[in-house]
Order: sequence, then structure tokens, then C-alpha cells
Amino acid sequence: MSQLEENVKNLLIAIPNNITLVAAAKSRTPGEIQEAVSAGIKAVGENYIQEAEKTFDTLGRIAQWHFIGHLQKNKVKKAIHIFDMIETVDSIELAEEIDTRCIEAGRTMEALLEINIASEPQKAGVLPENVQALAEKVKALKNIRLRGFMTMGPFVDDPEKLRPWFRKAAVIFNDLKGGEIDCLSMGMTDSWRIAIDEGATMVRIGTGIFGPRMQKK
Ligand SMILES: *Cc1c(COP(=O)(O)O)cnc(C)c1O
Repeated sequence: MSQLEENVKNLLIAIPNNITLVAAAKSRTPGEIQEAVSAGIKAVGENYIQEAEKTFDTLGRIAQWHFIGHLQKNKVKKAIHIFDMIETVDSIELAEEIDTRCIEAGRTMEALLEINIASEPQKAGVLPENVQALAEKVKALKNIRLRGFMTMGPFVDDPEKLRPWFRKAAVIFNDLKGGEIDCLSMGMTDSWRIAIDEGATMVRIGTGIFGPRMQKK
């Protein structure tokens, strides 16, 4: 068994099976992603539209495709041809653009609102106090199905320091869940156990599946 296969198998054993494992695939080759899917990965997360297009052209619909990066409005049209879920909706303008493009394409898009849980300046995501208002507006859009929330949490030296932020995100999720809202995406390679402890229903793991990322040339 390759290291990658072994990583996937071990994670699928360790992660409760009501939790969705998303393989965070930035900078990975289509071959690596194919291998992860063959080993049992059902959802792949992509951060960049251009990279996702190349991978998607090569592999097609071998998994659920999740967009987990920062989405610019001018890339939405491309995004809706590839992705099953956009995890990073953080403004009504972006949501409306997704809705409009989905109407044109005759489809609906699953979406999560990205929460800037620690209210960090310069960071993407909707502020905690504005989540409910944005959720109400997004729910009113016909071609978007709001499924829940995603958060990254701040950059910390010790993943245990993320726990209070994950807990805060779970409070927001628990207040608003019901109907189609059943998804809380949080936790990465170093923090997925803590995130699941605190109520994550979806984790996004890159390094823990594919190994360390190469430095960008
Ligand atoms: C890269 C990335 C991950 C996974 O990070 P790892 O530490 O490699 O597991 C998760 N979510 C997002 C949004 C990412 O960009």
C-alpha cells in the first residue's frame, strides 16, 4: 500500500462515519487526487479555480468537488461548472452572483457560509454577529441550498488553542441548524479531532492525506 493510500485508510477508520472527510487538494497532481479517491475519498476540496479546472478536466466527476478557497465574483461562472459545494460564501454579493449563474446553468449549488470566527482583520469570512442575517438572505435565493457553515480558525502554534473558536462556531451552527442546514465544516490535519469533539460534521484534511506540500516554485 502506498503512504497516501495508508493515510486515507487510517483516517477513514479514525473518523466517525457520519463525518464527511474532504481531501484538501491544493498543489496536488491529478494522479495523487485519483489515488486518494481510489482509496476511499468521496469529496475533494480545491482552493484555486485554475488548478481545479485542470484537475477536473483530467479526472471529471470522480468525487464531490468542494470549493474551499477565496472565490472572486468573476470566477463564479467557471466555479459552477466544476463544484458541487462552495464552502466559502461570505457576502450577499457573492451569493447573488452564484445564484444568478446557477439559474443560467439550470442547476442549484450547495453552499456554506464561511465564518471569520475570531473576527480577524483582513481575513475572509462573515463576522460572527452577521452570520444569521446573511444566512436569512442566502436562504431566500432560489438556486442556492444553504447547508451550513465553514470556518478556518486563526493561525495558532498549538491546535488546542483552536478549541474555543470551534466551540464558538458550533454555538452559531446549533442556533441556526435545522431544515437543510446540517453541516459544520471545520478542522484540518492538526485539529480535526478537536473540531469533531466540538461538533464538526465535515473536516478538511490535506497534509494528513497527501504529505507535506512542496514549496511553490
Ligand atoms: C489547505 C487547507 C486545508 C487543509 O490543511 P492541512 O493542514 O494541509 O490539512 C483545509 N482547509 C482549507 C481551506 C485549506 O486551504
